[in-house]
Amino acid sequence: MLLQPLGIFNENIQLDILREDLRHPFVSGNKWWKLKYNLEEAKRLKSSAIVTFGGAYSNHLSATAAAGKEHNIKTIGLVRGEEQAALNPTLQFCKEQGMELYFLSREEYRNKDLSRFSFSDVYVIPEGGSNKFGVQGCSEMLAGIGEKYDCIVCACGTGATLSGLILSALPQQKVLGIPVLKGAGFLKEEINQHLISFQNTNKNWDLALDYHCGGYGKINDELVTFIKMFKQQYEVPLDGIYTGKMMMGVMDLLRKNYFLKHSKVLVIHTGGLQGNAGIKERFDIDLF
Ligand SMILES: *Cc1c(COP(=O)(O)O)cnc(C)c1O
Repeated sequence: MLLQPLGIFNENIQLDILREDLRHPFVSGNKWWKLKYNLEEAKRLKSSAIVTFGGAYSNHLSATAAAGKEHNIKTIGLVRGEEQAALNPTLQFCKEQGMELYFLSREEYRNKDLSRFSFSDVYVIPEGGSNKFGVQGCSEMLAGIGEKYDCIVCACGTGATLSGLILSALPQQKVLGIPVLKGAGFLKEEINQHLISFQNTNKNWDLALDYHCGGYGKINDELVTFIKMFKQQYEVPLDGIYTGKMMMGVMDLLRKNYFLKHSKVLVIHTGGLQGNAGIKERFDIDLF
């Protein structure tokens, strides 16, 4: 069982965490759910390979590489930015799983310009696995466990995971997303588009926009201290890109009495711990 109680907090609020980081050793957290129907679709279409996109430390690339190996589907990763002299831990892992890697200039990446490649019969998954199949998979994450909670909280990058959670939520349940990028108000529209594509009209959700710690991939001393403290106190490791910021936000919202008295709150550990190796490499900070 992946549910773990964190404790009872002020105003008798029960906080539990869903350890999706433990679902699979390499296809971690929400990425497992986002890939579920994408893998099925690639098989159904008898695609020659899965092609997908990500930054050099991408949890999605890492998960796709491992899932491809497990399902015997060739994977091709298109990485944003210049090729470095040595592969970083994430890309090294992708390569070990058999993923073919190509590096795209920022411009090619932005335009998703594949004109210099001659792929045929490939199945293309967008960045983060955030297409309709990805949302559909995430809508199953809380099946059989979500019902008893009053509020469900999750970190947001593209908002696809949150969209899936909103799809599956009961009318009285509030779904709260904590974006890890700065100025993420635009995600509301993206999430609305996902919901529309499933003809869903649930409006009982919100975004807490103040917990990005300076922006995507940025970390600060407060976050580092928080992640270390959290691990010591609860024996739950958090990643520096997503779940650390989300959990720090939840603790702040608890202090500010954001959650209703006597309510049950579920936070989702969406995984991403492989990214801590990249943080060690870049900033020489050990979050493990
Ligand atoms: C990718 C990722 C997210 C963001 O998911 P979206 O569906 O893009 O919002 C959150 N947490 C972790 C650990 C991730 O790897």
